[in-house]
Amino acid sequence: ARHFLARAKSHQSLGAYLAVDEEVTLAQARAADQRIAAGEAAPLLGVPLAHKDIFVTRDFPSTAGSKMLDGYRSPFDATVVARLAQAGAVSLGKLNCDEFAMGSSNENSAYRMARNPWDPQRIPGGSSGGSAVAVAARLAPAATGTDTGGSIRQPASFCGITGIKPTYGRASRYGMVAFASSLDQAGPMARTAEDCALLLSAMCGPDPDRDSTSLDVPAEDFARSLNESLEGLRIGVPREFFGAGLAPDVRAAIDAALQEYRRLGASLVEISLPRTELSIPVYYIIAPAEASSNLSRYDGVKFGHRAKQYGDLGDMYQKTRAEGFGDEVKRRIMVGTYVLSHGYYDAYYLQAQKIRRMIADDFQQAFKSCDVIAGPAAPTVAWKLGEKADDPVANYLADIYTLPGSLAGLPGMSVPCGFGDGGMPVGLQLIGNYFGEAKLLNVAHRLQ
Ligand code: GLN
Repeated sequence: ARHFLARAKSHQSLGAYLAVDEEVTLAQARAADQRIAAGEAAPLLGVPLAHKDIFVTRDFPSTAGSKMLDGYRSPFDATVVARLAQAGAVSLGKLNCDEFAMGSSNENSAYRMARNPWDPQRIPGGSSGGSAVAVAARLAPAATGTDTGGSIRQPASFCGITGIKPTYGRASRYGMVAFASSLDQAGPMARTAEDCALLLSAMCGPDPDRDSTSLDVPAEDFARSLNESLEGLRIGVPREFFGAGLAPDVRAAIDAALQEYRRLGASLVEISLPRTELSIPVYYIIAPAEASSNLSRYDGVKFGHRAKQYGDLGDMYQKTRAEGFGDEVKRRIMVGTYVLSHGYYDAYYLQAQKIRRMIADDFQQAFKSCDVIAGPAAPTVAWKLGEKADDPVANYLADIYTLPGSLAGLPGMSVPCGFGDGGMPVGLQLIGNYFGEAKLLNVAHRLQ
């Protein structure tokens, strides 16, 4: 823990951490030492890791990357945080992210810029950018992240690390600051699939009293089949993931990984996910709709920021929200409110829900002829800081390969598979069928 705290301190310019507290971390480390001395054999006993600041924690402030929650302290730990602590993990602190996890570059953090350790002039990806930076720069051996539309997979890809988002409902959302509740899911980000498997086993499992969408499926030992042979594995390669929008440098790295899988005994099967392009408008209707509802709780009354000066109650709400939320969050609240309004609900929200179902069905069709799906996690390598900062739609379009799996609630991961332009890392995305995490981790592990 001391080693990683020192590294976090000497690499502050990367902007990975939003909160560190040496005393808290060392107290947790001492407690782990005592558990070791007492002969306990918890799976992560004494392992330091850091949490995306979207998880609420008792021992550190929790901001969700927003001024709205500046200085907020939660009276409880998120279930995922509590489970990792129970497994023996020691928290190094809280990691930078886009405000309320809305973004793909970490540039929407209300606090600080996060930089890609491979090239500090580039973005690390987002929204779990701080988590990816911390792991890639060895400021933490592992981190938690959350993925609503790609926020674990895309920053993992951009920073050359491994990350997995489990099947929707496998990890409890209790204590995860809500963005789009039907999509939000927690997962680990680490150097390898093996590390991810160990963390995921501690993070998952039912939480029926606290998250009504948590599934009644017991946690598994996700590391159990890491070394299984890939002989006979059918890898589905979606035609639509290799269209004109895919940069040639990324394509070359992905193709090389697919060839490596053939050498390992897998076969490649061309599949079609015909509604891939529609996943962008569908996601950018459903996610803001849910966000506009979830973010109504920030009213200056219950918790978080409250405007200093105001007239009546309505004025207090308005000023509080105008001051507390950043531009992207406001944009999404407006879009979400619009698509849910009377007269527009049927035209936008309901249509989006119908296409979401079709996208999920397309995957089930595809899984008739393959065991896992492989393709790029993102169309390009990490872009330059500021390059897309004024263009929300350009950011949205770059989510094209992660959104379909998110909308279907499928598990997905990114595993490093080479380098593209500027020597920047490229991640291979693997998508599994529901509860196919152990298989995904096996497939990823064999590439490493
Ligand atoms: N980039 C997507 C968005 O901005 C996904 C974010 C996420 O997965 N949290 O909504």
